[in-house]
Amino acid sequence: MNRKFIRLVTENPQGNYQYLHNMTVIKDKEVFLRDFEGEGDLSLVDYCKRECMERCNTDIDASVEEFGEHMDCGCPITLIYHMAVGHAELRNRLGQYESSGLSPEDLKERTCEWSEDDEGNWSCSKCTAVVIFAEDGPSENRMSFCPECGRKIINISLWKDELLEDEHE
Ligand SMILES: [Zn+2]
Ligand SMILES: [Zn+2]
Repeated sequence: MNRKFIRLVTENPQGNYQYLHNMTVIKDKEVFLRDFEGEGDLSLVDYCKRECMERCNTDIDASVEEFGEHMDCGCPITLIYHMAVGHAELRNRLGQYESSGLSPEDLKERTCEWSEDDEGNWSCSKCTAVVIFAEDGPSENRMSFCPECGRKIINISLWKDELLEDEHE
């Protein structure tokens, strides 16, 4: 596979498609609408205050932190406010993942899952490693990485029959 990993998160969006994914920006814990109508970043709270004043004649008097809780006019600006805050937070988190330079496929390749068989042998899903613990499984024995292939262990499944028996006890 030779697909190039293209970032969605950028601080310098070009064109409508990139703008769509980057139209919010968080500055000092406050959400702004990026370069709103070509006139620079606009505070989301200021935008919603202005729109609600115009549309439903409501003067929302609340701080940035509590603004969402004070939007009770029920107009579509309420929806826009919450979606924009969510957009900003998701964009931030996605940016952190993208900064690692790893695609979801890369991450999958770097991780493994461990499962237990009916005899208590634990094995790696990506290599031939088999481990028998004196007690419990990988997480209780503080094993975060496969000792042979070095991949990070992201999922652990116990032998299933035991789970079923436990449920019936
Ligand atoms: Zn309103
Ligand atoms: Zn392994």
